[in-house]
Amino acid sequence: MIDGIFDVVGAAGPRTFFEHLTTATLSHGYLFTGPQGSGKKTFARALGRSLLCVTPKRTLLGWCGTCSGCTRIEAGTHPDFYFAEGQLKIGDRDGGGFHETEETTARDLVRQLSLHSYAGGKRVFVLGDADFTREAANALLKFFEEPPAAVVLIVTTNALGRVLPTIRSRLVEVTFPLLSEDEIVRILGRHGIAGDDALRAASIANGSATRALAYLIEGEGATRDAAVEWFFAAAQGGEADASGWATRPTLEAGLETVKTLARDWIALGLGGSVPLLARDQRARLEELPAREPAAFVRMLSAIGDAERIARTNVSPPLVADLVRMALAPSSR
Ligand SMILES: [Zn+2]
Repeated sequence: MIDGIFDVVGAAGPRTFFEHLTTATLSHGYLFTGPQGSGKKTFARALGRSLLCVTPKRTLLGWCGTCSGCTRIEAGTHPDFYFAEGQLKIGDRDGGGFHETEETTARDLVRQLSLHSYAGGKRVFVLGDADFTREAANALLKFFEEPPAAVVLIVTTNALGRVLPTIRSRLVEVTFPLLSEDEIVRILGRHGIAGDDALRAASIANGSATRALAYLIEGEGATRDAAVEWFFAAAQGGEADASGWATRPTLEAGLETVKTLARDWIALGLGGSVPLLARDQRARLEELPAREPAAFVRMLSAIGDAERIARTNVSPPLVADLVRMALAPSSR
């Protein structure tokens, strides 16, 4: 039961978890984990908004939408709501200061954390997709030693291994599952995307609203289409033109598509009724002849290699060619 507005799609587990908390049982730090695009930052914002709404409510989650707290959150001007994304840096220790960049610095954060609430209530800090340098982590640990009572810190990550154990152990972990296709369609609807476009994007988004939006808005649809055509040409040993996806800005997304298709091909080759990730390509995948298990293993290994090399300066067409050789029928 939620008193007020809480318009977050999906995240049933986290929602239930916080529904059972009160301001008295709320911890000072949470770690939201789960795949990219599963709604961690959206939920963190909504939780922050719930905590900063000043209208009395019977539940922890939920906000009124009209009070001074809600209005300021909506306008992005709430002095007790701090939202930062990406790497937390800290500069040279002997330099006495930190790098003057746009990036969040840990010292700035720690200083902010030590301030009192402007509005007299809680202060909420969200560190989205947090990536701590070791020094930044150490600076933050000072906060954990004596966390101020009214502060709630929410860290989100899709790479749990990159959160230092010393930080992780001080946060309460909340896991976000992949979104269902229905949930992605509902989220796309809020972005004004409906109908066949929304259904198609949701069906190929592998449970990630971020990926569905990227596909529709950021032109990743063209990258995917090019990678799909390339994949089937390569798998049949034909002329495979990689120019539509093997470029620096699109290489990662293109390889992701190729990997998804290769996995589905292998899944079909192993038989059974496994759910495919690229369901829209099922008919074409079924037409591809199955390979020996060893060939499938080589294929996945080559794609893994390609993903690693893609992060270096090797030219994207060369990366694509490495994968093409592993996909080709003559591959031994
Ligand atoms: Zn309110």
